[in-house]
Formats: sequence, C-alpha cells, structure tokens
Amino acid sequence: MRIITTPCPNCGLPATIRSSRKLSNKVAERYCVCVNNSCQCVFKTHTEIVKIIHQGIDPATLSEQDIKSLR
Ligand SMILES: [Zn+2]
Repeated sequence: MRIITTPCPNCGLPATIRSSRKLSNKVAERYCVCVNNSCQCVFKTHTEIVKIIHQGIDPATLSEQDIKSLR
C-alpha cells in the first residue's frame, strides 16, 4: 500500500494524510499529521483539481459488467 504524504508547513518533513472528505467535485479537504515527533503539527489542506488533462472514458458508455470490474 502506498502512503500519501504532503510536506508539513511547520518543519518541512512529510506529513501523513489521515483522512479526506469531498467538499465538491473538484475540491477535497485532507486532515494531515506530521511524522516528526518533535513537531507533531496537525493541519488541513484543500486539494483542488484545476485542469483535466485527459477526460478518460465517459461513464455513460460503460456496461454494468465494466462498472462491476472497476469496483
Ligand atoms: Zn512538522
């Protein structure tokens, strides 16, 4: 399993993303905790999709079998 991190704004070392919730189709709020025991900073970030580089497949064109295989 890959652990996603973001830099701590206090010390610059990695912080682990502990939870995430969707605020809109383009914005997610993430609750982060610094891995540095001397810092222990806890903060939230907002991650926004600013541009779609490749649209991908239109979900309306997928069959039920395709959708089941993606879950
Ligand atoms: Zn830190």
